[in-house]
Amino acid sequence: MSASLDDLPLRADLRGLTPYGAPQAPLPVALNVNENTHPVPEDVADDILDSLARALRDVNRYPDREFTALREGFADYLGHGLSADQIWAANGSNEVLQHLLQAFAGPGRTAFGFAPTYSMYPLLTRATGATYLAGTRGVDYTLSAADAAAQIEAADPDVVFLCAPNNPTGTPLGIDVIEAVYEAARGIVIVDEAYQAFAPRQSRSALTLLPGRERLVVSRTMSKAFAFAGARVGYLAADPAVIDALRLVRLPYHLSALTQAAAGAALRHAPAMLAMVDEIVAQRDRISATLDALGYEPFELDQLRVVRRCRRPGGHVAGTLRPRRADPRRRAAHRALRVTAGTEAESTAFLDALASLGPGGAHAAR
Ligand code: PMP
Repeated sequence: MSASLDDLPLRADLRGLTPYGAPQAPLPVALNVNENTHPVPEDVADDILDSLARALRDVNRYPDREFTALREGFADYLGHGLSADQIWAANGSNEVLQHLLQAFAGPGRTAFGFAPTYSMYPLLTRATGATYLAGTRGVDYTLSAADAAAQIEAADPDVVFLCAPNNPTGTPLGIDVIEAVYEAARGIVIVDEAYQAFAPRQSRSALTLLPGRERLVVSRTMSKAFAFAGARVGYLAADPAVIDALRLVRLPYHLSALTQAAAGAALRHAPAMLAMVDEIVAQRDRISATLDALGYEPFELDQLRVVRRCRRPGGHVAGTLRPRRADPRRRAAHRALRVTAGTEAESTAFLDALASLGPGGAHAAR
């Protein structure tokens, strides 16, 4: 018989927590976890393989602890006059966020996010021993500069998470909100731009706000736009002093030589990798239009997926779709359904399955 968590001398502040658990469903049409479902293009994959093969020859040695070449690659890719000493990277932006929390949160400190937002913010915060504070949003999950600043002034957190556009609601975040939150905050302000590539072309990145703001951090990931979720590569841009702080908490050699090689090669093919973004946005807009026609009410959205209000609880609609071999994600409490825009074939399979439920998910609860 195996022991349970209660039998272990677990940290008291971890008792009762549940780990991140988005389902990894072995379904032909899995549109539930915001993955880019397009495979890496063949010629890019070949080049990545060549880089991996070269890196493998030296794998008896520790990798470049400072991942210098990769940081230079990210600085070039991001532009905005950034240099390598303003760049950090880790195994997914989850680890980037963890490094930030280890350096700037921790026991006796607080981190703050505007709920509902990315579910890992509270988990990562608590794992560093800090307290997570949940703020609120307005109608349809929007956030005004005045409201956001007032909440930050009242809570006075050590770390603020701003998710732009927001996961799970897709809500865009105005640059004015970021400016106001930065002014109101004493602590580090993290703008999580995991989905920035899917926002309208004209929307401004928080990268433009970095000069002169040493407490501002902009985090990105290769998981979404670059279709690189399995490689686990996230990165951030910030003042060089922030990067120095992160060196205090990272494990030595935290980015393997293979990860550095794969990410560097993928970055050299940025235009080909990002070509998929337009295709995903086209599928997202097509799903949106079809859902409108089916009577699902829209939320404002800037991501690679679509969130719609259902007449029935979203969980019910999602559950009814699974036997039809398509898996979107539910937000039962909000009567909402969210689905990642897949390839054209996947999106068609999802829309066909959904249409068979009738208008607005009306038949799903029968
Ligand atoms: N931020 C947001 C808003 C996300 O949705 C995700 C992944 N779902 C991440 C960060 C983490 O992504 P990764 O660790 O794959 O870079």
